[in-house]
Amino acid sequence: MYIILLGPPGSGKGTQGAIVAARTGLPRISTGDLLRAAVRDETPLGRQAKHFMEQGLLVPDEIIIGLIQEVLNTPDAANGVIMDGFPRTVAQAEAVDRLLAERNAAIDHVLTFEVPKEELVRRLLGRASDERRSDDAPEAIERRLEVYRNETEPLIAFYRDRGVLTAIQGTGSIDTIAMRVEEAVGI
Ligand code: ADP
Repeated sequence: MYIILLGPPGSGKGTQGAIVAARTGLPRISTGDLLRAAVRDETPLGRQAKHFMEQGLLVPDEIIIGLIQEVLNTPDAANGVIMDGFPRTVAQAEAVDRLLAERNAAIDHVLTFEVPKEELVRRLLGRASDERRSDDAPEAIERRLEVYRNETEPLIAFYRDRGVLTAIQGTGSIDTIAMRVEEAVGI
């Protein structure tokens, strides 16, 4: 089963992704986590991605599509993946489609997490002080929310047109939201 978690920064994709991964045994792949590890390890990918991430901008599609190709082609991904934080642009979504089509697979579910903006900002500022993520500075937070609206939100219509989209109310307790997710994907 191929599941995409779509939603603004702070909407709870990572938290819910980990729960779905544990329930299904499918790997959760987060491009954000992979990029942060690459930056930390100062790999060529990390060096290319670093300043985009710090500014709250998307890492360019040419770079990300190579990374997506790499992760979707691993044996671990053969039976399904929980995709957290990608695709984030229409070009990335088309690349995911192409890669899955090569193995006669397709996206089964796309979940969008709906959370009011004030709550998103509150969560992201809280995370900044807990985890010290450099892109959780107030200016970068505003930028990331704007980038989400401009570049990623169009994917909602893209997947709605295909009938695979479910909107999940992203407020409430983690358990309540997890129940909504489980109902949406039928696990
Ligand atoms: P969040 O969704 O909370 O912003 P992520 O960990 O998903 O956090 O992403 C952090 C940053 O990593 C993004 O702001 C962006 O710079 C970069 N990034 C992650 N995934 C992608 C992607 N699929 N395409 C482009 N940039 C990405």
